[in-house]
Amino acid sequence: MAIRGIRLFGDPILKTAADPVRDFDKQLRNLVKDLTETLDGAQGAGLAAPQIGVGLRVFVYAVGSERGYLVNPELDFPDDAEQDGEEGCLSFPGIYYDVKRRLNTVARGLTDRGDPVQVVGTEVLARCLQHETDHLDGVLFIDRMDQATRKQAMKAIREANWDGPVKLSPHRMTDRIF
Ligand SMILES: [Zn+2]
Repeated sequence: MAIRGIRLFGDPILKTAADPVRDFDKQLRNLVKDLTETLDGAQGAGLAAPQIGVGLRVFVYAVGSERGYLVNPELDFPDDAEQDGEEGCLSFPGIYYDVKRRLNTVARGLTDRGDPVQVVGTEVLARCLQHETDHLDGVLFIDRMDQATRKQAMKAIREANWDGPVKLSPHRMTDRIF
């Protein structure tokens, strides 16, 4: 098991829809372990397989004491309530902007043995489940920003230098970086 390199914005895999998992084998369990170790190493709150270069529908999350993973997740929204707030992404170091999301989310998926499992999330966990499932569809948080915010974010991204040592914002909120 290993901490894997995190793919940054500009890598085409981040814009590519991931494939459903079909083999519930040791390789899948190793992928979940690598995702978990990489997430912990990066001190983030969520990480999807395409972010480490694997085009499969798997993500891990660590929001407060709620930790876990989902294979082949599908989202369901029990109501119309929304939330607005700052969000970051491990594939966009140092970039934090407001993103509107649904407040309540139910994610249904499978364990690494293929058994059904469901995660019910509100607030930050709901945000995380939406952000990670978007990653599996090749959708990024900049695609969810309103037009003015996205414009600001794209400017900050163009000015960011991710080739050198990444300078992290002092107000970095590790519980909202997915
Ligand atoms: Zn992300």
